[in-house]
Amino acid sequence: MVNRQIVSELLQGHGIIPTQQRIEIALLLLEGNQHLSADQVLARVNQGGTAVSKATVYNTLGLFADRGIIRQVIVDPTKVFYDSNATPHYHFYNVDEGTLIDFDASDLPISNTPLPPAGTIAESVEVIVRIRNKPTLDRSTTYQHAKKSTIKLIK
Ligand SMILES: [Zn+2]
Repeated sequence: MVNRQIVSELLQGHGIIPTQQRIEIALLLLEGNQHLSADQVLARVNQGGTAVSKATVYNTLGLFADRGIIRQVIVDPTKVFYDSNATPHYHFYNVDEGTLIDFDASDLPISNTPLPPAGTIAESVEVIVRIRNKPTLDRSTTYQHAKKSTIKLIK
């Protein structure tokens, strides 16, 4: 369970000055395992009664991601999520629902990654598996079609 004291110490431990607005945003993000867009964070933090500007929310999320408190998951340039789970893991992205679902990195072992270019080191591996909802067969429509063709046959 996170509280102001724990969050304040966490921020300081990552070299971040724990202002009231940063604490509010961190409390909201770290209350559970979740993937939120910056706009969702903005809406929720302001719902809580604290007036925080859009710029502050964006800057704070960037700072938290930079310091490893949360993870930034970029599905595409218009879909960026902030992940309260900063430990290494992969994602399913449901294209139909616009949601992320975690899966364990050990479920998709990656070996033989190419050597990074000279003078660089690999920092992380990001995997996003795009998924869609299975199309459901609408039985009532099928039944009506069957009924109509039956009627035609009788005529
Ligand atoms: Zn995640």
